[in-house]
Amino acid sequence: MSAAHARPRHHFDEALLIDYAAGNLPETLSILVATHLSLCPACRAAVADAEAVGGALLEALAPEALAPEALDRVLARLDDEAPEEDAPEAPGAGGLPAPLRAYLGDDLKVLDWQQLAPGVDKVPLTPLSNIPWRPEEAVCLVRLQPGAVAPRHGHTGNEVTVIVRGGLADGSGDYELGDALIVDAGVTHAPVGLPGEPCLCLVYLEAPLLPIGDDHVASI
Ligand SMILES: [Zn+2]
Repeated sequence: MSAAHARPRHHFDEALLIDYAAGNLPETLSILVATHLSLCPACRAAVADAEAVGGALLEALAPEALAPEALDRVLARLDDEAPEEDAPEAPGAGGLPAPLRAYLGDDLKVLDWQQLAPGVDKVPLTPLSNIPWRPEEAVCLVRLQPGAVAPRHGHTGNEVTVIVRGGLADGSGDYELGDALIVDAGVTHAPVGLPGEPCLCLVYLEAPLLPIGDDHVASI
């Protein structure tokens, strides 16, 4: 990652960021959003705003106006809150953003990479809670070598991708460091690694993939 690298151009929408700020997202999606935030000053600012509004709202409400569990949730979240920080957290020696290091460590070489296709492999993130389907498939770090093509696939639910190194392209455009790519059921694509360093991307699947054609794999 060079210091001159552009900031992300593809973001999560505001409603999702507000849900994240309120602690309403499942762990799976939270990992994706936290990873994007670690690379995106604009969305970090939006989340800070949402948290400030939420805090002000909380102060304006008498405690009895809130459901007891809602208050507990907010208070627990305040306890957890890290000090305000403007700069993104520096990646570790292995180059992974902090939210991923919590799951994978920082040495890519020791991870249990599983090949999906020539030049394409993945490693699942575990352990995870709130998984709607197979835990071993729901959130993975996927690596595409430059020019390597992920087998064409469709989706039976949302697929959310955040680029953590290098870049990839699909029919909808190019995605580089920090960019979020969100596709829904019905979309078919075959992402390809952009030239340069290998692409590392974090992928969340809400539901299983739909294999397309003969060169399919069960999952990405
Ligand atoms: Zn953003």
